Amino acid sequence: MDSDNYFRPVNPEEMTAFDKVFELIAEHTTDMVCIHDSENTIRFATPSSKAILGYKPDEIIGKKLTDFLSADFINEMDFSTLKRFFDHPEARIRYQVEHGEGRLRWLETTFTYFGRDPQKDYTLLTSTRDITESVHLTDDLMEALSKEQEISRFKSNLYSVASHEFKTPLAVIQANIEILRIKRSEKVLENAIGSIEEEVDRLNNMIADMLELKKLTTGQTSFRPELIDITELIEEVVDQNIRKAYPEARISFTHKGNPQKIKADYTLLRFVIGNLVGNACKFSDKKGKVDISVEFGQDKVDIIVKDYGIGIPEEEQSSIFRSFYRAKNVGNVQGTGVGLAIVKEFVDLHTGKVGLISNPGKGSTFTVSLPK
Ligand code: ADP
Repeated sequence: MDSDNYFRPVNPEEMTAFDKVFELIAEHTTDMVCIHDSENTIRFATPSSKAILGYKPDEIIGKKLTDFLSADFINEMDFSTLKRFFDHPEARIRYQVEHGEGRLRWLETTFTYFGRDPQKDYTLLTSTRDITESVHLTDDLMEALSKEQEISRFKSNLYSVASHEFKTPLAVIQANIEILRIKRSEKVLENAIGSIEEEVDRLNNMIADMLELKKLTTGQTSFRPELIDITELIEEVVDQNIRKAYPEARISFTHKGNPQKIKADYTLLRFVIGNLVGNACKFSDKKGKVDISVEFGQDKVDIIVKDYGIGIPEEEQSSIFRSFYRAKNVGNVQGTGVGLAIVKEFVDLHTGKVGLISNPGKGSTFTVSLPK
C-alpha cells in the first residue's frame, strides 16, 4: 500500500453527494481524525493533523500515534500504562507529544474500533484534540485548590495551637499576678517580673512565627537578597535574642574557610538562624552546649547548628518540617511546631537546603547550605 491518503477518491468528478459531504467534514474538522490498520498504523488523516501534531497528513501516514509521544511523557509513565497505550488503547487517553514545531502539547484521543480484523486494513478510528490549555488550566486550578486546602488546614491548626499553647504562658503570667497581689517583697517582685517578661517574650515569639507562616501561606513573604556578612548576623542573633532567652546555655561559634559576604535576605536568614539556635537551646538542658559553625566553601556556605539535647526520633525526622508538627519526645517544652516549616520555606527561597542528623537522647545537627 502506498503512503498516500488512500481514502481520497481518485477522480473528483465521480464524487457522490456523500463523498462531498465526507470531504467537507474531513477537510474542515478541527479535531484530527485518523483511520488506522490492525497494527494501529495511520492510513488516513485529516489535514487538521498539521495543527494538532505539526505534520501534514502525508507526513504521518505510515506512522503510529505513539511515535509522537514526548520523551518526558514516556519516562514518567509507568510500564503498565505504557503497555496499555501500545496494546489496548482505552476509549479515551491523554498524552503529551512533541509537536512538529518543537513545542510540547497535550493531546486527548478517543478510539473507536470497527472490529479487530487483521485482514482489514482499516480497523480503528481515532479522533484527537489539543487539550494543552485545559491541562494547564487544570494544573493551575489544582494548585489554587491545594493552596486553599493548605490555608484552611492552617487556620484550623492555628486555632487549636493558639488555644493550647497560649494557655500555658498566660497561666504563668496570671499566677505571678496572683502572687504579687498577696506578697510584694523586693525578691518576689523581681522574680515575678522576670517570669512575666519571659512568658511575654514567648508569646511574642509564637505570634511572630504564626504571622510569618500566615504570610508564607498567603504568598505575602517578600524575598530581597542583599550582600550579607553571615558571621556578623549570627553574632547579632546570639547576642540580641538567644542569650536573653537562654542565659545559661553554653554557645560556641566558629567559622572555617575564607569568610565572604553572600547574597541572602537579611530578615529571612535572621529568622532561620534564630529558630535553629533557639531550638538547639530549647531542646537541651538549661546549661546545654550548642556549637554553631559556618563553613565557607567554593560555591556554598554551610551554617551548622549542633546540640547535645533530646534529639529527634528517626521516624519523625522528615515530619518536623511540616507546619504544626511537634515530635513525640518534646514533653513540656513549649512551642507551636511552625518554626521549622518556615525555616524550610525560607531556605527554599534562597535555593538552599536544610539537612538534619539526629540521635534521640544524644542531640541534633541542623545544616543550612546556601549557594554563594
Ligand atoms: P517548635 O520548636 O515550636 O515546637 P519547630 O517547628 O521549630 O517548632 O520544630 C518542630 C519540632 O521539631 C519540634 O517541636 C521538635 O519536636 C523538633 N525539633 C526541632 N529542633 C530540635 C532540636 N534541636 N532538638 C530536638 N528536637 C527538635
